[in-house]
Parts: sequence; structure tokens; C-alpha cells
Amino acid sequence: MTDRYQQFAGSPVGRQVIRRLGLPNPVPLRRYEPGQPLLNGPALVGAAPAGRLAETVAGILRKADADVRTATDLPAGTDEAPTRPPRYGALIFDATGITEPARLRELHDFFQPVIRSLTNSARVLVLGTPPDRTGSVDERVAQRALEGFTRSVGKELKRGATVQLGYVAPGAEPNLESTLRFLLSAKSAYVSGQVVTVSETAQPAPAPESWATPLAGQVALVTGAARGIGAAIATVLARDGAHVICVDVPAQGADLSALANRIGGAALQLDITGDHAGDRIAEHARTRHDGLDIVVHNAGITRDKTLANMDAAKWDAVLAVNLASQLRINEVLLGGNVLRAGGRLIGVSSIAGISGNVGQTNYAASKAGVIGMVQALAPTMTERGGTINAVAPGFIETKMTAAVPLFVREAGRRMNGMAQGGLPLDVAETIAWFANPASTGVNGTVLRVCGQSLLGA
Ligand code: NAD
Repeated sequence: MTDRYQQFAGSPVGRQVIRRLGLPNPVPLRRYEPGQPLLNGPALVGAAPAGRLAETVAGILRKADADVRTATDLPAGTDEAPTRPPRYGALIFDATGITEPARLRELHDFFQPVIRSLTNSARVLVLGTPPDRTGSVDERVAQRALEGFTRSVGKELKRGATVQLGYVAPGAEPNLESTLRFLLSAKSAYVSGQVVTVSETAQPAPAPESWATPLAGQVALVTGAARGIGAAIATVLARDGAHVICVDVPAQGADLSALANRIGGAALQLDITGDHAGDRIAEHARTRHDGLDIVVHNAGITRDKTLANMDAAKWDAVLAVNLASQLRINEVLLGGNVLRAGGRLIGVSSIAGISGNVGQTNYAASKAGVIGMVQALAPTMTERGGTINAVAPGFIETKMTAAVPLFVREAGRRMNGMAQGGLPLDVAETIAWFANPASTGVNGTVLRVCGQSLLGA
């Protein structure tokens, strides 16, 4: 869908009007294209003394051909003639060495001189230790404080830059690479102000043979794949090497087949609320592929009305598609081991499921339920060597949001750090990161893809 305001903001006249009136400025975001460099400029890597991650991070960046600089590389100016730092594509600070609140000052000292020196769509990343894995009250407090710092930085950044906090558990260093590559690359264009935890696993996460096609040889299933976010998910998983089974209702059969053909996948027409939906998926996966590696529960519907005006049919329809069907399908796929060991379950929640929304009691209940599903199944998935995670999209430009009344639509588009809606691709890239075999250390996460929306922030 066209964002006419963003088009106007990009024109010479629009730029002037927006600057003079202080209106939101939705700059074009850098998005991933195959072969693109990881970063949009050099990376400055710093660390608090005794940090345990800076070396690992610098090693991963160099392997990805990034230009890595450290504080000692900073140009030395004088008080009279301070040297302007270069524009950085990324600022990364290892804060794991901060063991007491007084030392939080090290965040200020690293970021303050360079925070203005960022390229468009630059990345800011703070790395810490999960507060519940720290050794003392002081350390726990200091590590928890990182969250307030990063979320506030996100609200100050401009020109498509993002900031995240990565909590890396002791022993999880070998599992960091896929998350680092996602959070620093253009794949996370519409993710900002988020906290991601990387945990240690029984076996270190395997590095893919190629980071361009990490899903090579894998079989994925995506529901609601005929259009919108589902079509983008199927396309990105196929780009990353997976064979994708695309599921949608028979009424969407033509679009579904066209997509499946385009991406070299298969089309499976079925209503996921049907009594035998799980069995039909299991049969298809078993007979043709001997199982599945990735299941993305994307299909979802809205039937909006305020609670006082909502009939039971609207309530039931939304809960059936968005939640109950997914639980039933999971039972069949997990019970029958159709989802192979090391498999991925991925849900699609919504920021409405976090913050609530007028007219969406049914939808928000279902989407909060998806978060419950992630939390309930995370330990089971750990036992199977796999993971379950979910995305919580904010305002994404699709047919679903095109149907929203104009005023609400404009509010949704602008009330976030990027002053624009996200694209289905942004949700799809996040799901591809969860799906990556190298992301085994990320389990039980609900990641917002919302441009740091003010809703439920
Ligand atoms: P969409 O309406 O464009 O597409 C949804 C697809 O799901 C359709 O192809 C539809 O036919 C299919 N579907 C619906 N019921 C089905 C059923 N019973 N069985 C099989 N397929 C079925 O929606 P979208 O905007 O692409 O949303 C995709 C997901 O993202 C949904 O779960 C939605 O709730 C969620 N989401 C969207 C946004 C947004 O801004 N668009 C924000 C937050 C969450």
C-alpha cells in the first residue's frame, strides 16, 4: 500500500515543510538484498573493562568482512581542534563487565561522543548479561538498567537507525553469531528498542555452510501464505534455501498456487480450523518429506467490534483461527514427531496482544494467547533441541491494515520511532532469523517488529 505522506516527505518541497514544521520524517529504511555488506559503514566496538564479549563480536564482524574499529582507532583531536569522528554504520558496546550501578557511566562515556556520528539506518547494540544470571545484587541492578538506557536511545535516534539490547548468557558466546548478524544487518530494518536473550544450549549452535542460504535442505510450512505477511514469509524462507509448503484456504487457491510456483514450493489448500487440518499437514509432510523442520503459524483474521457490540460468532471465529487451531496442529506435529528434532515453531502475535486495542478484545486475547503458547512450549522445545518464538508486528502495510479507517491508519503509521509502517518483508526477515539452525540459543522470545511503536511500549 502506498504511503503518500512518506512520498511527500521524500520530495524537495516536502523535506523543507517537514523540517520547518517539525513533522515526522519517515526516511527510506535500508533493507536487505543478497550480497549487500552487513553494515552501512564502519563498526565501532567498545567494552567496559572485563567484558566477556567484545573479542567474540569483533571476530564475527571481521568474518563478515565488516570494517571494525575500537576506541584506540578514534582520531585524536585537541581541545582547540576536536576531530570529528567518521560516520559509523554500527556502535556496539559490550556492557557485560559492568558489575555495579556506578559503572553505568561507561555507557555514557562510550556513546556520548559518537551517537551523532551515524549513517542512515545505522545500528546501535548494547550487550549484557541476563540479569537473572548475574552474581550479585549490584550486578543484577546494573545489567537490568541497560534496558532503560537502550529503549531511551531508541527514542532519540533518527534517520532509520535502530538500537537493541542483547543479553548473552554466560556460555552462550558460541550461539551469538546468527543474532548478531540479524540485529546488525538491514534484515532488522523495522526492529528497534527490543531486548533479545541468547542462551547457552547443550550443543553449540551449528554455523550454516552458507549464511546466504542457512535453510538449505530444510522443509518449512507457512499458514496464511497466499498474501500479505504470509506470502513474504514463504518467499524469504525459500530465498534462504528452504522448501516451503504454502497453506491457505481453498478460496485463495489461485494466489496460493501462483506463490508456490514462484518460489519452487508446494501449495496445500486447507482451512486450519478444520477438524483434520493437523492430520492433513502431517500426511503431506510425512509422505513427501519425511517430516518438517519449520512451522510458521501466520494465518490470522480480525473481526473488530467493541465488546458491547461483539456477537459470539465474531469472538469464536477469531479465537478459532488465531489460537485454537494452532494448538491443535502443534499437538499433532509434536505428538507424532512430524516436526523433526531441532525443529522450529514460530507464532505471529501482535502489539495488540501486548497493549490491547479498542474494538479488538477477541483479537488481542488470541494474540496474547500466542505469547502464552510460546512460553508454555519453550521448555518442551528445548528438550527436543528446537525452539519456539513469535513475532509481534506493529503497523505493517498489508490488506489487513489497508482496511483500517484512515485516521487510525495514519496514527498507526506515524506513532513509532521510524514514523512509517513496516513491510511484510520486515516480519519475514525476523521469522527467518528464528528459523535459522544457528539461532538455537533464542527460545521463548516474543520480538516486536514495530519500529519501536508507542503502543504497549
Ligand atoms: P492478511 O489478511 O493479508 O492474510 C492472512 C492470510 O491468512 C490470508 O491469505 C487468509 O486467507 C489466511 N487465512 C485466514 N484464515 C485462514 C484459515 N482458517 N486457514 C488458512 N488460512 C487462513 O493478513 P496479514 O496482514 O498478512 O497478517 C498475517 C498475520 O500477521 C496475522 O496473524 C495477523 O494477525 C498478523 N499481524 C498483522 C499485522 C498487520 O499490521 N498487518 C499486525 C500484527 C499482526
